[in-house]
Amino acid sequence: MEQDIDQYFIENLRRRNPKIYRQANQHLNTIFYSYNDHLKKVMHIAGKVKQGFVHISPLIQKCNKEICPACSDVCCISKHGFYNYEDLIYLHALGFCPPDLKPGAKDSDPCQFLSFKGCVLERCFRPSGCNWYFCDPLLEYLESMPWYHEFDDLMREVAELWLKMIEEFFSSINHANPKLHLPQIHR
Ligand code: SF4
Ligand code: SF4
Repeated sequence: MEQDIDQYFIENLRRRNPKIYRQANQHLNTIFYSYNDHLKKVMHIAGKVKQGFVHISPLIQKCNKEICPACSDVCCISKHGFYNYEDLIYLHALGFCPPDLKPGAKDSDPCQFLSFKGCVLERCFRPSGCNWYFCDPLLEYLESMPWYHEFDDLMREVAELWLKMIEEFFSSINHANPKLHLPQIHR
């Protein structure tokens, strides 16, 4: 099991393995259940990250409406629609059960969360690879907006909260049970 979790983390963006993904989720589920009292701060920060995404979302959406209809290389592909280990920590902290991973998807395949009506996920529940991806035309359009600096500050705030949440998760678990095996994050 421990080896599988490490394996999941090491391979998380290189090779999508539904079995390891499921095990990582089960492992986190157990951790959040068993150490719930120690993880209150992590859950609190995750809530603030979620709120940050909720504030940011309408600003991005405004620009999506202008830029995306003419796009010939849509970014809703598997490469951007895969939860990494930090995403799973965030989702578990919110009490959200991450959906199963579609097996066998290649990077260029349509994202598993793409429906004929668009994305089925609210922005605050989307994978990091999606939320932090801005193609050049979208970024240029965002930068031309009068509220861009406000947007940039919000994004920075969310990124800082995210780092704090992950650090807090590892230090809380280490404090609660120094012997518990968790994968090491290498950024
Ligand atoms: S965000 Fe960029 S790459 Fe993605 S659909 Fe819109 S224009 Fe295309
Ligand atoms: S999660 Fe949604 S917005 Fe992101 S790539 Fe997938 S379908 Fe597109």
